[in-house]
Amino acid sequence: MSLSFPLQPNPLPASDARVAEVLAHPGFGTYFTDHMAVATWTKGQGWQDDSIKPYGPFSMDPASAVFHYAQEIFEGMKAYRHADGSVWLFRPEKNAERFVHSAARLMLPELPVEDFLTACRELVKADVRWVPNPEGGEQSLYLRPFMMAFENFLGVRAAERALFCVIASPVGTYFAEGVRPINIWMTDEYSRAGQGGTGSAKCGGNYASSLIAQYEGYQQGCSQVLFIQPAGEHDVEELGGMNVFAVSEGGALVTPALDGTILHGVTRDSIITVARSLGLAVEERPLGASELRDGITSGEFVEAFCCGTAAVISPIGAFKSKAGEYALPPGSGAITMQIREAITDIQFGRAEDTFGWMHRV
Ligand code: PMP
Repeated sequence: MSLSFPLQPNPLPASDARVAEVLAHPGFGTYFTDHMAVATWTKGQGWQDDSIKPYGPFSMDPASAVFHYAQEIFEGMKAYRHADGSVWLFRPEKNAERFVHSAARLMLPELPVEDFLTACRELVKADVRWVPNPEGGEQSLYLRPFMMAFENFLGVRAAERALFCVIASPVGTYFAEGVRPINIWMTDEYSRAGQGGTGSAKCGGNYASSLIAQYEGYQQGCSQVLFIQPAGEHDVEELGGMNVFAVSEGGALVTPALDGTILHGVTRDSIITVARSLGLAVEERPLGASELRDGITSGEFVEAFCCGTAAVISPIGAFKSKAGEYALPPGSGAITMQIREAITDIQFGRAEDTFGWMHRV
């Protein structure tokens, strides 16, 4: 039976003045809306106790499995307000499908796609006044669905009790001063995921283990880290929280293939579809780190960008590594920005949704 996530209204919602104050300067991931969606799962009983209830802390036993073995998965997606006031989700079924994939890898229960979508839709409906009006920028309501093993037991095993939750946070324009190229630190010292590991699952542990390389990147003046397979072919993988593309002189896009070690980005998939519809060639294949570096030096690659839900697409100014710095030609990025605009125009309802990607809440 499908879940319906009935509303238990928050008796003490934020005042309209407070909501307006937050939406004026939302930042990222700092403020949360009045409600959250929750449901619990118990082995033999399935999903139950679904509701949209007042946002607030969980009471958890110190022996909860998630604290000890990191049995946790999450998702990230956004709700966009269009000029007529209507609110829309962008390809939420892709996030729901990835959540099913992540749950299977971490031995958490499957939450059916339809129930995931209902939870997100009902939460946005309950807290619709928290969805910012983009007013020419890219403000939106970020949704964070997550699931964890919730039983009080120190044995290591498949979850027998799990908690699913969705929280929502208004987010501002990612690039306050306009879209600017960023520098990327290339590491082959730290690995994010190996063959057979959890790279294609969106689980918290992947992010905990990426931090050390991310901080090495900050020290080198870079805002993100690009992971390279440290053994074998030294293939380019992905960033700590984004996928990566290079654009060749002739306008063809190259991005690492989904080989099981990287996340199936919804933005990555959308870029491939949009680029092909614009008549651009896209190659999903192994991309060697030396091929990338040599290609930038020789002028074979003229643009590079990274992509994900938060920033959509960020142009890359330079890759830095212990071997040196590889800068893309200054002022390049025409194809990057053309694709970025095509996607944001669909998300914010400025262009026709020819791919059927938007779901009205
Ligand atoms: N790779 C990683 C490791 C990420 O965390 C993200 C963000 N979810 C992405 C890629 C991009 O995925 P998406 O386009 O679905 O946001």
